Amino acid sequence: MKKVLIIGGGIGGCISALELEKKGWDVTLVDAAKELGAGLRTRFIGGHPYTFGPRHFLTHNTEVYEYLDSIVPLRRCAEHQFLSYIEQDRNFYSYPIHFDDIPRMPEALQIEKELEGLEARFRDNEYRLTQGDATNGITASDYKDFWIKSIGPTLYEKFIGTYSRKMWQLEDESIIDDFTWSPKGVAIKRGQRAGWDTAISAYPIAADGYNKIFDLTLSKVKCVMGERISSIDPITKKTVIRGEKLHFDVVINTVPLDDIFENCHGRLNFVGRDIQYIVLPIKNALPEDVYFTYYCGGEKYTRVTEYKKFTKHNSEQTLISIESPSSNGRYYPLPVASQREIAKKYLGMLGDGFYSIGRLGLYNYRYDIDDVVEQSLEVVRSV
Ligand SMILES: Cc1cc2nc3c(=O)[nH]c(=O)nc-3n(C[C@H](O)[C@H](O)[C@H](O)COP(=O)(O)OP(=O)(O)OC[C@H]3O[C@@H](n4cnc5c(N)ncnc54)[C@H](O)[C@@H]3O)c2cc1C
Repeated sequence: MKKVLIIGGGIGGCISALELEKKGWDVTLVDAAKELGAGLRTRFIGGHPYTFGPRHFLTHNTEVYEYLDSIVPLRRCAEHQFLSYIEQDRNFYSYPIHFDDIPRMPEALQIEKELEGLEARFRDNEYRLTQGDATNGITASDYKDFWIKSIGPTLYEKFIGTYSRKMWQLEDESIIDDFTWSPKGVAIKRGQRAGWDTAISAYPIAADGYNKIFDLTLSKVKCVMGERISSIDPITKKTVIRGEKLHFDVVINTVPLDDIFENCHGRLNFVGRDIQYIVLPIKNALPEDVYFTYYCGGEKYTRVTEYKKFTKHNSEQTLISIESPSSNGRYYPLPVASQREIAKKYLGMLGDGFYSIGRLGLYNYRYDIDDVVEQSLEVVRSV
């Protein structure tokens, strides 16, 4: 029986584990945490379900949607809207930026002038959300350049510039050079305001969200919890687990590669998150259909999420979270070339049968839940 080691028990590790177990493999999954699921695990405060930040399922891939739906039935949330708060305007506007909001902005005339001067191929382009599409040959030298060409300088500073510096903890956001993930469909929207009208937007119907995936994994697969892999040979696939020397035929890694290869090519930088949860004595905190709000100015936080919008939890109260970028945790790989170069060196070390997947394992912010599931299924198919 072939032996596979799976490093990390988030959704990527668990889907890989369940599928390989079905194929008759001898699966060992190791996770540094005490419970499976990482940020997708639903927990409860006063009966209110929540995850670590919003974890809504967004995809263009119907196969991945149907696959996930067959394990945790999903509710479509096509109505999902986002709002951005612009403190200096004392106003909330739709995000993605919406044409119909511009007349409400104090600099409306200036913005309209700037928009008239934009090249149509930037202004009107349909961006293929999360797919990393190179957007029909559009050329922009970096993230800032891309946005200024798409929306002009005034809208840029209002919605994107300060937010991005805060989000990525950077003094100068122009060092961001991967921007294919940035706009949600289009840079400026017309028509309906739902944020994800070009993709499937969904969330598990069950009160405990994605947890069935983690419970199934725990019941079917050998899981070593509370154990951190800190060193593994990328060629021979030998490692030590709980003091025992072990050797595997295949390894599927979902965690940062510097952590398991002893930082041999240097440390990869990630932005972390602090999240505060607050139960409020009101039925709803955000307007109907608004699932979360972004904060684009000098506030320390970037996002407020109302979990009820996803979970449909029935209560006279509501649970919100306030999310602030920080150095706690390794969650968001930086979309900058110098860091991707380091990641490439790690990826270049992997021998036959050693796979690395997901946002952390591939060091790519673009990879969301759907991409991680897709990559897991691909690896399972190919081994
Ligand atoms: C705050 C936040 C909000 C997000 N919201 C969304 C969203 O709304 N929609 C969306 O599609 N995507 C969202 N994402 C991204 C998405 O959730 C992740 O890309 C995806 O869940 C990653 O799954 P994974 O299995 O690859 O890794 P993870 O879920 O990160 O799991 C990795 C696991 O590895 C374990 N681990 C780490 N190091 C080691 C080690 N050395 N040895 C053993 N175990 C280890 C960890 O404990 C963890 O359980 C969000 C991300 C964050 C941080």
